[in-house]
Amino acid sequence: MVVHIDEKSVTLAAITAAARDLAGQGGVLRSPMLRSEPLSRRFGADILMKMEVLQPMGAFKLRGASHAIARLTDTEAGRGVVCCSTGNHGRAVAHAARARGIAATVCLSALVPPAKVDAVAALGARVLRHGDSQDDAQREASRLVATEGLTEIPPFDHPDVIAGQGTIGLELLADRPDLGAILVPLSGGGLLAGIAVAVKALKPSVRVIGLSMDRGAAMAASLGAGRPVAVPEVATLADSLGGGIGLANRWTFALCRDLVDDVILLSEAEIYDGMRWMLMQERIVVEGAAAVGAAALLAGKVRPEGPTAIIVSGQNVAMKQVLAVARGLPVTLGGMTVEGTGCAI
Ligand SMILES: *Cc1c(COP(=O)(O)O)cnc(C)c1O
Repeated sequence: MVVHIDEKSVTLAAITAAARDLAGQGGVLRSPMLRSEPLSRRFGADILMKMEVLQPMGAFKLRGASHAIARLTDTEAGRGVVCCSTGNHGRAVAHAARARGIAATVCLSALVPPAKVDAVAALGARVLRHGDSQDDAQREASRLVATEGLTEIPPFDHPDVIAGQGTIGLELLADRPDLGAILVPLSGGGLLAGIAVAVKALKPSVRVIGLSMDRGAAMAASLGAGRPVAVPEVATLADSLGGGIGLANRWTFALCRDLVDDVILLSEAEIYDGMRWMLMQERIVVEGAAAVGAAALLAGKVRPEGPTAIIVSGQNVAMKQVLAVARGLPVTLGGMTVEGTGCAI
């Protein structure tokens, strides 16, 4: 594959600089990558878990949010920051803003689970519930930029956010230069684009694959259409993967289009299996969005041919849901009931 990366776009150099910046700040963990014994045995290849669940705030989002907030001028920071979020970005922004001593406002739609809303509020951020979709929350954030002069920290479509998430790609190859494939949860594509920029620059032969739920996967639909499109947002076990990519998307759509090898969609039942596998076999609590790597392997939708990394992206999930999945009981979400596929776990 020949890759032409726009000079003005996110570069390996920007990601290397982000890694230096984050190491210097000390707030973000250089997370370990653990070999999954049960998955490696089952698939006859090394399956490696990048443990972003161990990050402060329970998700990788602190990388992008910390880097973007660190790069604000004093004037920009002094106005206070605002973001919209499916939960984890808001929590990361609230935490990073507090660390810099600035005010944060987080706009969340009604689809964001209460556990995530409470966690953002507990960090001292102003929380605004707005509308029924991530797009509604985005409109509210844009309105506050216009009316209150706040500085926006977007959840994915921003070069500093993408560079921050891309530091994961550097760590993956530093730890396992022999990696053959990387399975990345995909929503707005900041995580996938950042990892893809780093990895394709350092080792283009590594397959970089995005994973989304099969209902409301905005980036997958946009890549299919050849331009950013809107899709209806619906309740999903992978609530962190909901929301649009923005019809005026500037960065992540083009990077994913140019650099990503494949995007694979998973059913709710398959995501349930992934969560149950992570709990029962790995003894790791994950939210649905972070279970898609295990889910894609278990569903036979990705066949590992060499060392394969899965990004275990976050663990901010209501304990009630964890307990239901551990017991193998159905989970009710927005009027729909989800169960596993019955695959052996
Ligand atoms: C935000 C998030 C994702 C998806 O990241 P994008 O950059 O929006 O694609 C995946 N997993 C978790 C846990 C997240 O919080």
